Amino acid sequence: MTGGRARTGLPVPRLGPYADRPRPYPPGHPPHVPIRPLWMCRACGQPWPCAEARLLLRVEYDQNPVELAIYLSGLYHEATHDLFRLNPHDGPTPRELFERFVAWGPYRRGMVEPPAVDR
Ligand SMILES: [Zn+2]
Repeated sequence: MTGGRARTGLPVPRLGPYADRPRPYPPGHPPHVPIRPLWMCRACGQPWPCAEARLLLRVEYDQNPVELAIYLSGLYHEATHDLFRLNPHDGPTPRELFERFVAWGPYRRGMVEPPAVDR
């Protein structure tokens, strides 16, 4: 790995949250957690977070939406890092990844389109 930051002497950014949620449900079944660096669901093979993972996360963080927002934002950062390195030219766009990881979670607002510019 080429750590551009390591060469400059600056600290390497801390890695985001460990993707260990949602917990297995029902207990004993494969958890709907991502396989990195592909970010596919370990249980069902769909792009993570799959529908089941979103549902389970909503239930698991029902009393703590701030923690869910932070978790999703952290994983968005991690997934962007992984997927851009994996496929820098025709992978998902930042907007697509934001929609996939963050926008469905708590405290979401509709995407704001940039204002049209008359020329
Ligand atoms: Zn799944």
